[in-house]
Amino acid sequence: MIIEIATLFPEMCEAVLSASILGRARAKGAIEVNCHQIRDYTTDRHNRVDDSPFGGGMGMVMQAQPVYDCWRAVQERSAVPMHTIYMSPKGHTLTQQRVRELAQMPRLFLLCGHYEGIDQRVLDRICDEEISIGDYVVTGGELPALVLTDAIARMCENVLPSSEAYEEESHFNGLLEYPQYTRPEIWEGEAVPPVLLSGHHKNIAQWRAEQSRLLTRERRPDLYAKWSKEQETNGLL
Ligand code: SAM
Repeated sequence: MIIEIATLFPEMCEAVLSASILGRARAKGAIEVNCHQIRDYTTDRHNRVDDSPFGGGMGMVMQAQPVYDCWRAVQERSAVPMHTIYMSPKGHTLTQQRVRELAQMPRLFLLCGHYEGIDQRVLDRICDEEISIGDYVVTGGELPALVLTDAIARMCENVLPSSEAYEEESHFNGLLEYPQYTRPEIWEGEAVPPVLLSGHHKNIAQWRAEQSRLLTRERRPDLYAKWSKEQETNGLL
């Protein structure tokens, strides 16, 4: 998996991409993530990459030219086909299912907007899709691109110790994960559920599956209804 991130703030992305699991995954070559400075591609003699919006209004809009030239230069660096995603609050909301699909693609180009966004003409020219990380607005596309990169990276081979590490987690099978506990057995008078100390693997698995169902039904009835329907369709309920 190769992820190309185009941004006006590559140093912000590098700080996150060099740390912890992502940093180790990059160091051992399990994923390749490259950050590209859009400003390097401007032809403006004052190095500008934005201008005020036609029609008036607050703020600045990123211009088409540097974004397009950056995208073209990155595309030409490799023969691996690129799927281009604009991180945008107007996009489809990211789901675990979409993360799984994107993790199968060989190369992604994540475009980060800033200020009021990016000239629509270049988005229409280069983007395959727009993805939102939720129904709220953040100041730039960098954090959304990092969220997407992290979610994809952990599904790639050799990033986590095994696929079990993510297959048991919330959203993978449509449910939320069961509660987790660790030492000490009693903390401030609160004991962990006894079944977890029993060493009985089948009972533990049953308890966890039940907790997962209960928690999902209580907190996310929308997910629970979808999961139940799928189970019924597959004759599992
Ligand atoms: N004017 C835009 C609007 O109202 O839709 C918002 C611009 S926002 C301040 C600047 C940039 O942050 C966007 O171009 C986008 O790249 C990114 N961004 C903001 N919120 C986002 C979200 N929920 N998901 C993905 N990207 C987001």
